[in-house]
Amino acid sequence: MTSTTPASTLPEFPAGTILGYPRIGPRRELKKAIEAFWAGKTSAEEVEAVAADLRKRTRTHLAGLGLRTDVPAIPSAFSFYDQVLDATNLVGAVPARFADLVDAEGRLDLAGYSTVARGRGEDLPLEMTKWFDTNYHYLVPEIGPETEFRYASDRTVREFVEGLADDVLTRPVLVGPVTYLALAKPTETAPEGFTPLDRLADLLPVYATVLRELAKAGATWVQLDEPALVSESLDVPLDRVREAFAQAYTVLATELARPERPAILVAAPYADLAESLDVVAASDVEGVALDLVRGAAPTAAVPGLAGKVVVGGVIDGHNIWRADLSAKLEVLERLETLGAAQVAAGTSTSLFHVPHTLDDEPALDATLKSWLAFADQKVTEIVTLAEGLSEGREAIHTQLLEASDAVRSRATAPGVVRPEVRERAASLTEDAFNRGPFAERKTAQAERLNLPPLPTTTIGSFPQTPEIRKARAAHDKGELSTEQYEEEMRAEIRRVVELQESIGLDVLVHGEPERNDMVQYFAENLDGFAVTQNGWVQSYGSRCTRPSILWGDVSRPAPITVGWTQYTQSLSSKPVKGMLTGPVTILAWSFVRDDQPLSDTANQVALALRDEITDLEEAGIAIVQVDEPALRELLPLKEKDHAAYLDWSVRSFRLSTAGVRPDTQIHTHLCYSEFGQIVGAIDGLDADVTSIEAARSKMEILADIANAGYPRAVGPGVYDIHSPRVPGEDEVEELLTAAVKAIDLDQLWVNPDCGLKTRRYAEVTPSLESILAATRAVRATL
Ligand code: GLN
Ligand code: ZN
Repeated sequence: MTSTTPASTLPEFPAGTILGYPRIGPRRELKKAIEAFWAGKTSAEEVEAVAADLRKRTRTHLAGLGLRTDVPAIPSAFSFYDQVLDATNLVGAVPARFADLVDAEGRLDLAGYSTVARGRGEDLPLEMTKWFDTNYHYLVPEIGPETEFRYASDRTVREFVEGLADDVLTRPVLVGPVTYLALAKPTETAPEGFTPLDRLADLLPVYATVLRELAKAGATWVQLDEPALVSESLDVPLDRVREAFAQAYTVLATELARPERPAILVAAPYADLAESLDVVAASDVEGVALDLVRGAAPTAAVPGLAGKVVVGGVIDGHNIWRADLSAKLEVLERLETLGAAQVAAGTSTSLFHVPHTLDDEPALDATLKSWLAFADQKVTEIVTLAEGLSEGREAIHTQLLEASDAVRSRATAPGVVRPEVRERAASLTEDAFNRGPFAERKTAQAERLNLPPLPTTTIGSFPQTPEIRKARAAHDKGELSTEQYEEEMRAEIRRVVELQESIGLDVLVHGEPERNDMVQYFAENLDGFAVTQNGWVQSYGSRCTRPSILWGDVSRPAPITVGWTQYTQSLSSKPVKGMLTGPVTILAWSFVRDDQPLSDTANQVALALRDEITDLEEAGIAIVQVDEPALRELLPLKEKDHAAYLDWSVRSFRLSTAGVRPDTQIHTHLCYSEFGQIVGAIDGLDADVTSIEAARSKMEILADIANAGYPRAVGPGVYDIHSPRVPGEDEVEELLTAAVKAIDLDQLWVNPDCGLKTRRYAEVTPSLESILAATRAVRATL
């Protein structure tokens, strides 16, 4: 159906808006409050008060930056943990194992909500996985034929009303019904062939109720995030998503008409909507937000857009470079010729992928700073573009010039292009990417390492204790000398080695105490990177990371990990595994320069790592692990882009690792287990041993690996480190028994799902003991 609503009847929409803003607080106030609540140190009321204050300050702050408050420019998009979990809470789809946590109305209180996110005892939390191609993780809804949907949480309405009470007309943001179900997984008892999207018709009445309630409360616009529309990487095919969209918005936009509901803005961030713009245009929603950083604007008029608002997402919500405003304004002006009722300037995605503000970075180099825009600076860019749209280019003449100057200054600045780095990369031959045959390596490594069947190891990090953090903070402030700091880290390494030996692990690690973060640590030690002081970005729940900024050509001024690793090896006769972060992950978890192909940047990082690995090998280290947990994350959302991505990402890993001798064992760690689409790429990495997450999915991944005829070794995780829960010996034994059945014994390693840095020793020690006890039990049956 084509919209016939005349533009004049649309509720007013601002000329500039953002799709979302960081929720964690400029000083991570929310993180601190909710973690204190989990630790039993504060009450739910106190956390609610901190959150309400944060929301209030955010609204005031955004208004101060120039977003309008009389029309819905400011999104109401708060979350205590995760927006997908919020949707689960909204529609009452709490899994049966947590049924006792909901009250008669289907509501979860903050404690219950936290438990669903974090698990308790035998009740596993909701599975966590990456949100589209970002480093944000959401909690996967579990939907079955039996799931009962009901309007269970009025949080969205309350938060809208709270804004209104402050005279701010916000735009409530919800994960849309199609994306919600497209991201869900079937419950364990669901019959074969069931997909959560089968339940769309039953879910829609709940969304209809929310829309009605929001309209009653005075909301004029609501934003429904439907990024499922742009992705070809979901379990459900895009055609099915398109169909579901048409069905959903017939119910929500056509059958439920205004003024019974607010006007609906459908946001489609993270990639080009091109393939699905027609279905959005044909629906009766009043607006669509396009990602014009990842996607292109349509080049010809789209009929259904005539009555709609189009938000042109020209400001990158996912990276931190200052925009060339003149070019962005041009895109918006072109968009204006396509016949939409109104074009507004917007961000390509929510801004919660970038830090709060550059104003909080006094130590950042001033020139570099002049090239950057964090969330607040992006809001200012939006406000400027909005003014340009309504008042004309002349009105923002100075800002346009300043922005162009910044872009020009960056292109010619020292360090951005370094000829020696370029020449080395350009002179590489194919040999640099290839190791010898695996069979030969396998024999040579077995002889050198002499490991038992089912060798046990960990993924690298051990708990980052308060003492380690304190020492690092003191060292950063200059209160602890480098010598003292390094001695404390060595003491920590000694403790970690002793613990591993007493538990009986076969391949030891140094525990990574000296690393604040697996990417930032390397960024701090490589040329071409800068790091921030307060540039925190939410990764999952209360967890934040501080991505580094990769701004120039990359090289390694000196060895980075060699001293620590050599020291660790000197403490034990067991092999110590060197530990590096791979090129793709360094890129994925940094803000990366956008002025050259990612493949070029990846190869520069790979060469720096290659030198590090050569040095480790020369220092006598027999095993080196190169972590690539982000390999799957950067996989483009569009299938047509997969091959090129997998080619350069795999090649950069090989470039970093292929310089070693046959008897040096290369490990990699990949974290997540959705590898259906990239089994070929894992093979391409040619690592001797690959560890992956598998505990929550009960080793399902091994069947894929066996079916693919994968020849090298794997370490499916047997301990879910994302939860405080300690696995029992029986449980691990069961997983290992399943693993031994699924693949060849000499392919199998035993390890946790991921690094242990976020856990406490009280959880880690008994968990590793369970793993070792279970391994011994299974070995005894061989
Ligand atoms: N070696 C890293 C660690 O153990 C790997 C972490 C990760 O995969 N995210 O912490
Ligand atoms: Zn991991």
